Formats: sequence, C-alpha cells, structure tokens
Amino acid sequence: MYIDMNCYFASCEQQRHPELRGKPLGVLTYDSPNAAVIAASKEAKEFGVKSGMRLMDCRQICPQMLTVPTSPAWYRQIHVDIMAILHKYCDDVIPKSIDEAVCNFHSYKFVYNDLSEIARKIKADISAKYDWLTCSIGIAPSTFLAKLATGRQKVDGLVVITEDNLDEHLAKMKLTDLTGIATANERRLRMIGIQTPLEMRHTSPALLRKAFGGVVGDYWHRRLNFGEVDMYNKVENRTMSATRTMSSQQSRDRQQLESMLISLCTRLEQRMVKGGLFCKEVYFSARYRDGTQWETSVKLADPLQDAMEMRAYIKERIADFERSRGLETIFTEKVTNLTVAIQGFVKDNVMQYSLFDNRIKRDAVRKVMYKIKEDYDQKNLVRKGCELLNPFVMKDAIGFGSVRDMMLNKEGGVKNKHLLEEDAKEGEKREIKIKKKAPPPPKEEEWFCDINNEETETFTSALKKMKHAS
Ligand SMILES: [Mg+2]
Repeated sequence: MYIDMNCYFASCEQQRHPELRGKPLGVLTYDSPNAAVIAASKEAKEFGVKSGMRLMDCRQICPQMLTVPTSPAWYRQIHVDIMAILHKYCDDVIPKSIDEAVCNFHSYKFVYNDLSEIARKIKADISAKYDWLTCSIGIAPSTFLAKLATGRQKVDGLVVITEDNLDEHLAKMKLTDLTGIATANERRLRMIGIQTPLEMRHTSPALLRKAFGGVVGDYWHRRLNFGEVDMYNKVENRTMSATRTMSSQQSRDRQQLESMLISLCTRLEQRMVKGGLFCKEVYFSARYRDGTQWETSVKLADPLQDAMEMRAYIKERIADFERSRGLETIFTEKVTNLTVAIQGFVKDNVMQYSLFDNRIKRDAVRKVMYKIKEDYDQKNLVRKGCELLNPFVMKDAIGFGSVRDMMLNKEGGVKNKHLLEEDAKEGEKREIKIKKKAPPPPKEEEWFCDINNEETETFTSALKKMKHAS
C-alpha cells in the first residue's frame, strides 16, 4: 500500500491556518518574484499552478494566489503523526519522503482480507487528527505499481491495481507518466520502438536491457510485471545530499553564500553522526540563473565526517578552478542553488584511522556535541564556532531525503527530535527550556557580536548549567 499525501505542504499550512482553506495558496522558501513555489494548494492547481513554478509565472495565471513561507518543523510533526497512524495497521512502514510511505502488508495475508477497508480506516484516522489533510492510496502487489495507483486518482484517491486491471490502467498512460521515465528515458524507449507503457510492459527484458543499457532494463520489466524492485532501496546509504535555493538578494552577499555552504555541510555532518557514518566522496555544485552549473567531486583516501573538513575540500577545488581561470569566480550574485552531496559510506565502527593524522579526539568531540544536543533536547544549545558565522543563514531546509531520521524508534519516539524544532526567525527570541537566570549581556566588543544577545546569553548560561551539573 502506497500512501501519498495530497498537496502536502500547502495542505499542512491550511491545516493550521484555517483562513487559508479553500483558497489558492503557494508555499515558498523565500519571498521574491523569482522564488519557486515548492507546493501549491489544490485550489491553486485548478488555475494551472504547479510545484516548481516561479512566483511571477504563477501570478500571471492566478493573480489572487496567497503565499506563505515554509514551516519544515510543522510538516515533519505531521509526517511523524501520519507514520504513527500507519504503524497502527502495519509493522513494516517504509517512509519514502516527507509525504509518502509504503506499507508492506505481505505478512498480513491472513490478517486482513480487504486492504481497501484498511485504506479507508487510515484515511479516516488521518482526517480525525488533521481534518484538512487528504491522501491518495494505491494498493498493488508491488511498490512501483502501488505508487502508480496513487497517481491514477489525485485527490483523496483509492485505487487498487491487480493483474486483471493493470493493462487497463497502463493503456490510459503516457511513458512519462511512469515514475522514473522522464524525457531522456522516453527517448531511449522510442529508439527501440516502444511508444506506450503498455508496449513497454509486454516487450522482452532483452529489448529493455538494450534501451537502458543493462540491468536497469530488467528492473523495468519486473516493475511492470508485478516484481518488487523498489521497496527497500537503500538510498539512505548510497547518497545523502543537501541543497538550498538562494534568492538574488542572498546571493549578492558573498558571506551568505559562504555561510550557506557551511550550513549544507553541517546538515550532512549531522546526518552522518546520526547514522554513525563517514563518507569517502564529496560532491558540490553551484547552479546559476542562466541555467549553467559548476560542479566538482572529491574522492578521499581517509573517510570524513566533519563539516568543516568537507567544506575545506570543496573550497580547495573552487580555489583551483578560480586560479586557473583568472577572473572567474564560483560564488557570484548569479548563483541560484548550492548542493553538497556525499557518498561512499563507511560505518564508524570499522573506521581505520590514519597513522599520521590524529582525528580520534575530534571525532569524539563531535559525538559529544551531538549527544548534548540530544540529551538536552535542544539543537542550538551547543554549536561549533564555525556555525556562529551567521546563524540566520542556517535556516532549516526541508530534508526530503532525511525522513529516515524521523522514523520512530522502538519506544515510539522520534529518533531525531531536533528536526521537529522550528528555526528562530531573525530578531526573534529563542525559547530555551533550561534557562535559569540570565547572566549580564555580553560586552559589545565581544567577537561574536553578529549574534543577537539573546542567543549569546542562553549559550553561556547553558554552558554554565552543564558545568554545574557535571
Ligand atoms: Mg504528495
């Protein structure tokens, strides 16, 4: 059973702001005519607004569209609650993204005789908790076909695909309606004479291997013939990436770009520490307003986990490039997007330490820092000095790929609670739970003067308190 929440971010906003219900709404990461709408409400979709459209283009077709900024912690909270609902019916729930999950009911054959009934119960449970949220549910013998079924009926859908009706569904679809078939794959298929999903299903695996160049062709044959390919893809350990879109105002300020790079590396560091992983490959790309892109990747002899080390390798590559090009620079005001990705993971318990570079202490300190964050339940209680550059650039990013960090642990709690905390807005006071008595405000000449006093105070008081406790 595949569950896909409808217009997720927009519906979440309408859930907590009833005045936005029934109105065309776009969710934005930042407010600028160039910003992309990352999610549109169903009312906005009726006007033709699609996710990923630029705000100014949306305004052309739907001038009355309202906009709201993203609230990642809220979306994650709802995600966690929805996962808990699914766990009531199935012990094998695999979150696929913040608004999608698969329930594997294969071991429930003798428990439930009608999964549509379960699907209706799930829908009822979700709307009992969040009355504005709807989902599309697909039921099929495999993950791929169940997801395909969710796409067949977009709002509040419930579609069952069986061996008897699959061809009927495929007959109404285009190749690019299949998840994973975009224009490049479509071209490959057309080259071997396949024009429709139906033809694709009934062609030989050998021909599909030819189209996709190897084993990927076999996967496609299996997907369309009830084989299971997609349930437990271990994507989480293949690549992790962090990406941010920049407004033109942000990219005009080189310091903001620099801070953003640190923020992306820190996010990946956090996920590696959580997963007990080190990586052997670092990738970086910068995308520009004219659609061009600069990218680089570094293979490492010694696996790393540290954000600043990761950044140092990226900066080294950037410096190499800039030296060879004279005046060209990577961080210009034309940057729209920065991405850092890592792969080639090694578990920390099998890490081989280099004889010449003592990183054991640093790794231990990092672990302790995250442990403190965890124990005190505050993600900003301790920070590395490098994170203090500009805390407001470190705005939370919605980790589409990091839903596994939010999976429930055995006790039913969320593994990484920090993901459920809202970021403080600029100038806004942060609520710190363990504050006792505020020490006198720091002197003006203090080196971290670009942090607001509130934060510095609580940072120091928290530190004192911990000293005291120990
Ligand atoms: Mg969805």
